[in-house]
Amino acid sequence: MWDQIAKEISTWTGEPFQIGDRTSVGGGCINQGYCLRGGNVAYFIKLNSATQIEMFEAEALALNQMAATGTIRVPKPLGVGVAGGSSYIVMEWLAFGRGTSQSWEKMGRDLAALHRASGPGQFGWDRNNTIGSTPQVNDWTDNWADFFAEHRIGFQLRLAKRRGGNFPDTGQVIAKVRDILSDWQPSPSLLHGDLWSGNAACTVAGEPVILDPATYWGDREADIAMTELFGGFPAHFYSGYEAVWPLDSGYRQRKPLYNLYHILNHFNLFGGGYGSQAARMIEQL
Ligand code: ADP
Repeated sequence: MWDQIAKEISTWTGEPFQIGDRTSVGGGCINQGYCLRGGNVAYFIKLNSATQIEMFEAEALALNQMAATGTIRVPKPLGVGVAGGSSYIVMEWLAFGRGTSQSWEKMGRDLAALHRASGPGQFGWDRNNTIGSTPQVNDWTDNWADFFAEHRIGFQLRLAKRRGGNFPDTGQVIAKVRDILSDWQPSPSLLHGDLWSGNAACTVAGEPVILDPATYWGDREADIAMTELFGGFPAHFYSGYEAVWPLDSGYRQRKPLYNLYHILNHFNLFGGGYGSQAARMIEQL
């Protein structure tokens, strides 16, 4: 398998590549990560079963689309493939270090610039993708309230009920979400989509990077809400973001609704106490 992958890398880059050293990289939630070194180059590769190829195709598309905006640094993907019963994605290897306050300020500014990038003017994306390993439906939709209520909360809630969670009637919850968002008409932004601290890093040179996206065109507040879900990003991130594009005063009210999506997804992925947390959040809505 590794020889075949090395050959593919040579084809993609047009440079001969042989794996001199392969080390496992931890920290991922879904895939097995490795650093492949050969000569004076290094690549990051993630592996999963061959059936997961579409997940990697969507990740490569997302990274390419974000890179094309020229706003925030993402790892540059080389390609995806299948070898020896595994699917894989190969991207540039980035040496991560400790970010400074300037790095986080720039991360905020760069993310705001990504969110301002112009796009198709609808909510959704070119294809369905995944959040963690849960499917994410991205059917193009004109109205944000419809998109978020149906394809985000409704979709996860149906999965959560199948998983045995005890939640109110799905139709009622969807109607409530629609109602809360009915007066809110954000412009569609290209989102990272899964922006917790494990998916934001700084290179050793201090450059901010976002990785492992679950991209779609949506309300930028959904990205910011997720940065606040598990402890929050450094304060400089938020001041950088607001310096470029201040948040609307209604953000604080919408934040729990946007984060309900991720808590439901955590219940669907990991079970446990996320179910009762999601139920409490729904009750509060
Ligand atoms: P998963 O899809 O399994 O969640 P991630 O994409 O989050 O995996 O990557 C897992 C870890 O690997 C990250 O937390 C990060 O530390 C490291 N990593 C991810 N991308 C790169 C890269 N391009 N270069 C170096 N390390 C990386």
